[in-house]
Amino acid sequence: MGAVSGRLTIGLDIGATKTLGVVLDDAGGIRASAREATEPGARGVVATAERVVADLRTATGDPLDGPLGVGIPGLVDPERGAVMHAVNLGVDGDWLPLGEHLAERLGVRVLVENDVNAAALGAATLDPLDPLASRVDDLAYLSIGTGLAAGLVLDGRLRRGEHGAAGEIGHVPVDPTGVACQCGQRGCLETVASGSALAAAWPVTEGPPAVALFDAAAAGDRRAIAVRDRFAAGVADAVRVLGLTVDPRTVVLGGGVAQLGEPLREAVADALRRQAKGSPFLASLDLAGRLRVVPSDYPVAAVGAAMVVR
Ligand SMILES: [Zn+2]
Repeated sequence: MGAVSGRLTIGLDIGATKTLGVVLDDAGGIRASAREATEPGARGVVATAERVVADLRTATGDPLDGPLGVGIPGLVDPERGAVMHAVNLGVDGDWLPLGEHLAERLGVRVLVENDVNAAALGAATLDPLDPLASRVDDLAYLSIGTGLAAGLVLDGRLRRGEHGAAGEIGHVPVDPTGVACQCGQRGCLETVASGSALAAAWPVTEGPPAVALFDAAAAGDRRAIAVRDRFAAGVADAVRVLGLTVDPRTVVLGGGVAQLGEPLREAVADALRRQAKGSPFLASLDLAGRLRVVPSDYPVAAVGAAMVVR
C-alpha cells in the first residue's frame, strides 16, 4: 500500500457544522471519505481536521503522507496557509496559521484555500455536460449557502484577485431601496439570493427552508411560486453579473441551497430566459444553457481542496 500513497491526495472541507475529508486517487476518484462535527475555535478546527485525517488513514489503511489541501471559509492567505475572519468557525482576530499547525501535527505538506475557491476547482473536475473535457477549465462556481459568493476558474487558473475578493458578487448592490446587508451596504445580491434570504422569505419550523419552498411551489401554492420565482430571479441576476463580467463557459450552482438539484437549475434557467426575452443581446449569450448544478451529496469543496495540492 505504501508504494501508491504518493499518488493519493487528501482534501478537507472545513465548515461551520462539519468537516468533510476525501482521499482522491491518481485518476481523481474518491477512494475514501470521512466526516466529523467541527469543534469551534482555532484549537477546535485544528483538532477536528486531525481527527478527520486519522479517520481517512484508518479507512484506507494507508499512511497518507502525500500533501493535504484544506478549504475553509473566511479570508485566506494561500502563500502563508493562514486564515482570518472565519467568524462562523469561531476563528476571528489574528491570522491563524492553519497550514503550519496541521503540517506540524500530521507530518505532511499542507495548502490552504478559501472554501468557495476550492469548490470551484472541484466543480471544474465535474465537467458534467461537457464531452470536450480536453478543453481548458473555464467556469464560475456560484455558492448559494448562508451567503452568496462565486469562485472563478478562468482559462484553467483560479482567479483570487489582488485582495482575495474576486467573485464576491454577493455584495454587488442591485437595489438602492433594498434591505441593509451585513457588509454595510444596502440591497446587495446576497440580501435576495442566498440561503439566509430564502429562509427569511419562507420561514419554516423544521427542515431546510429551500426544500419546503420548492415543494410548496411545485404543489401549486401561489405565494410559494411567487417567493421561489423572486429568489430564482435574484440568483439569475448573479449569473448575469458573472456572464457579463467574465463570460465563463459554464456557471455551476453549488452550496447548501443547490442541494435542491435540478429544480433549482430549472427555476434559475427559467428566470434567465425571462430576463433575456426583451434583449436579443442577452438571449444570444444563452446563459440558461450554460447553467449546471453540482450533483447533490457530491463533496465538491473537499474534492476541490484535494485538487489544490495537485
Ligand atoms: Zn453586502
